[in-house]
Parts: sequence; structure tokens; C-alpha cells
Amino acid sequence: MVSKLRLVFFVLLMIPQGVMFWMASNSLLQGNKFFSEIEAVSLASALILVLGMPGLTVEWLVGKHIRDMGKLCGRVKQGDYSELLSLPNESTNEEDTIMILKRDMNWMARQIEFRERDLRRVVKELQESRSQMQVMAMTDPLTSIANRRCFFDTLEKHFTALLCDCHPISLLLFDVDLFKKINDTYGHQAGDKVLLKLAEIIQENTRDSDLAARIGGEEYALLLPETNSQEAAGIASRIKNLIAGHDFILDGNQQISVTVSIGICTLFQRPCCFDKEKLYNFADQALYYSKHIGRNSVSVYNPDTGLISKFA
Ligand code: GH3
Ligand code: MG
Ligand code: MG
Repeated sequence: MVSKLRLVFFVLLMIPQGVMFWMASNSLLQGNKFFSEIEAVSLASALILVLGMPGLTVEWLVGKHIRDMGKLCGRVKQGDYSELLSLPNESTNEEDTIMILKRDMNWMARQIEFRERDLRRVVKELQESRSQMQVMAMTDPLTSIANRRCFFDTLEKHFTALLCDCHPISLLLFDVDLFKKINDTYGHQAGDKVLLKLAEIIQENTRDSDLAARIGGEEYALLLPETNSQEAAGIASRIKNLIAGHDFILDGNQQISVTVSIGICTLFQRPCCFDKEKLYNFADQALYYSKHIGRNSVSVYNPDTGLISKFA
């Protein structure tokens, strides 16, 4: 509707210019070699208007709409969908191309907004499930403490840090004594309950910087950064006594006692023994020494001498 009115104005404006142009050109055609000054001025002004009018008219008819559409594109680029193009209230005439274009641009802006929102939601869901999967990949499903993978990853990180830092790191390896007997006597579910409680006891006795992990069926590890051999042995001895003194309650209110054997090794940054595999193997040797001497005990591997001694 708006553009039709403008078209009418444009035609009305062009009529006098057309008349002047016709008069001037007529006088030329009639053979007047030199037409009058008035006719010449009329011809010149008519020519200027005729040549300049299309540009002016285009600007007049669609300039504001195009600028509005440009502004909308700018807002959409910034992710701002708060303001769309204003459209006439009455149903838009199908012939009004600009209005159709504006309506379509509004529709596109809305579509981009909806799709962007959907995309953001999907990305958020993916990020959440990714972090859930990362947690699951590092967690033992039975006890909810760190699993074997998490333990070895953390050990690796500590050893990388040890390269530039000169601090001790201690490893405690636990193995439940005669656990098969518990399973055989009370059933696998009762065994699981014991494993869960053991994880709780070990976890409760750690600092934030320590890592308690279930690294096998009835085997646990406790990684103690910044902890020397004496401190590690003290912690191991305390946990061993806590476990031995704990009444494990099974289904049907049966009470049982459980003991663990523990092996310890501590390393400093020294070339001779700077190796995470060595740390694990030495602690493992100490653990089997604890088993060998009768279980329910703590043994320490000395990396300097290669000797293992019972601590508690
Ligand atoms: P030792 O004192 O020499 O360590 O004797 P043990 O009986 O503890 O050692 P053994 O290796 O013979 O038995 C370990 C048992 O742990 C066998 C296996 O069935 C049980 N086990 C391993 N994983 C699980 C588990 O997730 N749940 C339960 N309930 N039992 C498990
Ligand atoms: Mg075992
Ligand atoms: Mg065992």
C-alpha cells in the first residue's frame, strides 16, 4: 500500500518534467537550431531530474526498509533477537514485495533464534553427558571411589610433577585377607558390602591431596603425595587397625571381622629410584611380604637397601 502511494507521487512528479522535456525536444525537432534560453533550461533541468530520479526514487521507496533489514541482520549476527522488523497490522498485500521480504526476514530471524537455542541445548546436554562419562570412566561402580584407570592416571601426573619438584610420594597397597572365604561363607553380595565399607574407611582417612582407589577385586591403593615413609607407615597402621576393629554388619545382622595386609613404598626424586612402575612394584612386594608374615600387617619397602621390614 505504501509503495503504491509513492508510485503515484512519483508519476505526478514526472508529468511536469516530461512536459518540459517534450517541449524542448519538440522545438529541436521543429528545426530551431538554437532554442530559446527558457527551453534550454527546461531541457537541462528535465534531463537532470530524469537521470537522477530513478536513484532518488529507489532511495525514497525502499531505502528505509533496506536500512531496517540491514539493522535486523546486524542484530541477528550479534545473537540479539529482541527486535524484529515492524509490519503493518492489516494482512499484507501479496503484491507488496518489500513487506513480503520483511515478513520473510522476520521469519528467518525467528528460525535462527529457535535453532540456535536448540543447538545450545544439545551442546549443553552433550557436555553434561561427556563429563558424566568422564566421571564414570574414572570411578569404581561398586564403591564410588577412584578406579584403577584413575589411580594410574593420577600416579602418572604426580610423577610428571616430581620431575621439577623434589618431594616424597608414598604408595600404600591394600589386599583384603582371605576375602574368598567371606564370599564363600556369606555369599558374593555380602562380599560386595564388605568391599564397599572398606572403601569408605580408607576414603575417610585421606586428605584432599590423597587418592584412594579400588584397583582390583579386593585390592585398594592409597596415593599420598608429600608424605614420607614414616608418615605413610603411620597412616597405614591406623587404617589397618580401624579395619581390624570394625564390625562389618551383613544382611541378617551377622557381624564379621575383616583384616587387610598393606605394603608401602616411598620415593623421592632420585635417579636411582625415580620410576612409577618401581614405586608400584616395591609397594606390591611389601604387600606380599605382609601376607607372607601372617596377614593383618603393614610392611615397608626401603628403596635404598631393597629390604622389606614389618612396621606393624
Ligand atoms: P589372600 O589373603 O591371600 O589375599 O586371600 P584372598 O582370599 O583374599 O585372595 P584370593 O585372590 O584367593 O581371593 C580374592 C577373592 O576376591 C576372589 C574373588 O572372587 C573375590 N572378588 C573379586 N572381586 C570381587 C567383587 O567385586 N565382589 C566380590 N564379592 N568378590 C570379589
Ligand atoms: Mg587379591
Ligand atoms: Mg586378598
